[in-house]
Amino acid sequence: MSYDKLPLEPLFAKIDELKPQFISRLEKAIAIPSVSGDESLRPKVFEMSAFLVQELTNLGFDDIQLKDLGIQPPPVNDPKLQLPPIVLGKYGNDPAKKTVLVYGHYDVQPALKEDGWATEPFTMYHDTAKDILYGRGSTDDKGPVIGWLNVIQAHRELGWEFPVNLVVCFEGMEESGSLGLDELVAKEAKQYFKDVEQVTISDNYWLGTTKPVLTYGLRGCNYYQVIVEGPGADLHSGIFGGIIAEPMTDLIKVLSTLVDSSGQILIPGIKDMVAPLTDKEDKLYDAIDFSVEELNAAAGSKTSLHDNKKDILKHRWRYPSLSLHGIEGAFSGSGAKTVIPAKVIGKFSIRTVPNIESKKLDELVFKFAEEQFAKLGSPNKFKIELIHDGNYWVSDPFNASFQAASKATQDVWNIVPDFTREGGSIPITLTFEKELGVDVLLLPMGRGDDGAHSINEKLDVSNYINGCKTLGGYLHYYAKA
Ligand SMILES: [Zn+2]
Repeated sequence: MSYDKLPLEPLFAKIDELKPQFISRLEKAIAIPSVSGDESLRPKVFEMSAFLVQELTNLGFDDIQLKDLGIQPPPVNDPKLQLPPIVLGKYGNDPAKKTVLVYGHYDVQPALKEDGWATEPFTMYHDTAKDILYGRGSTDDKGPVIGWLNVIQAHRELGWEFPVNLVVCFEGMEESGSLGLDELVAKEAKQYFKDVEQVTISDNYWLGTTKPVLTYGLRGCNYYQVIVEGPGADLHSGIFGGIIAEPMTDLIKVLSTLVDSSGQILIPGIKDMVAPLTDKEDKLYDAIDFSVEELNAAAGSKTSLHDNKKDILKHRWRYPSLSLHGIEGAFSGSGAKTVIPAKVIGKFSIRTVPNIESKKLDELVFKFAEEQFAKLGSPNKFKIELIHDGNYWVSDPFNASFQAASKATQDVWNIVPDFTREGGSIPITLTFEKELGVDVLLLPMGRGDDGAHSINEKLDVSNYINGCKTLGGYLHYYAKA
């Protein structure tokens, strides 16, 4: 471990000492069922924002603001449904210090005991034998949000000066598409966020269960639909089979040309846009704690396309993939219905990576699919369109914030973290990078098996408490970088 260690032991000891208070603060947050996707619980999302304002006030934050985002656009049952506010706050305002923005979200996924939870999802259950905290939002994302507040409390009780100016941005619609957030960030970029030099997001997870990670890349996603339309209504195959051009046959023909069974994308030109693998990047994969067995366990099968760790991770993180998702309008029930669907819509998406240009990708995809359909000589109508796109993100794992987070992780966990990417996307990452023009660091607290959107969501106490130490330590190292 070749770096100058900062004397952070008193901070870590204070965090250990405050553990019971920190657990009880998280318990209070979990008790508020701030489910953004359930309109009937919207008052609880507001209650959660008020809870945070109270906590920020108690901790001595300045300029606390609740940013009103107006009425939620359709589809909604209540046309006057208010969006929950974005909670902003500032801790410290010293021009000699760096200013770090931390983002988190205070809304959660829905959860019902009947879904299969072992305990009430909104009553935190501390399994003391395993030292695990169960409850909706424990790891996603109330644990990390509360973690930042805990770090400030620890400094206050120690009488330590806070190493940076901290700006918090907590949103209440993350699990429901982050409505209003992009606009707010753009609007405040030169106002509330004007001094921000770095953004840290703690809203993802370790790759596995034992080794801390820092995340420096996310794939993007371009989602398409292919529409094939023929007869004016669904028809019976006993009457029309063999005498009419069937949309489903055309659709399947076209979809089958996009990707092969080994995962190769067959659309020409996409591979050429992928950034070449450098030696430095390739080496990062060597250390990563991951195995084919872990993939099999996560997938619930032994159907991996790759037989070694590095290939699996590269194909998950740094190469594009094309997945066929479904066919709208097709017969999908059980039994033997003899329908000829009149109109079918095939859905597929491409996970994108550096340096795929989104618009160029659309052009390649449209051109190829249209050519494939034309080859069929079908009288049916064909259309392909983009439903939505989100760009990929990649940062420099050797920059100041990643190196600061790496040192803090080593102090706390006694191990060099893995530098990982994710195959999915966290759109807010790009928004901050683009609007504020600063580096973003993804610094996860929880483990890969926390069950963020599933039943029995949990956060290990060790991840919570060591997570607080890591967040705090990171700010100290970053301040000195
Ligand atoms: Zn989250």
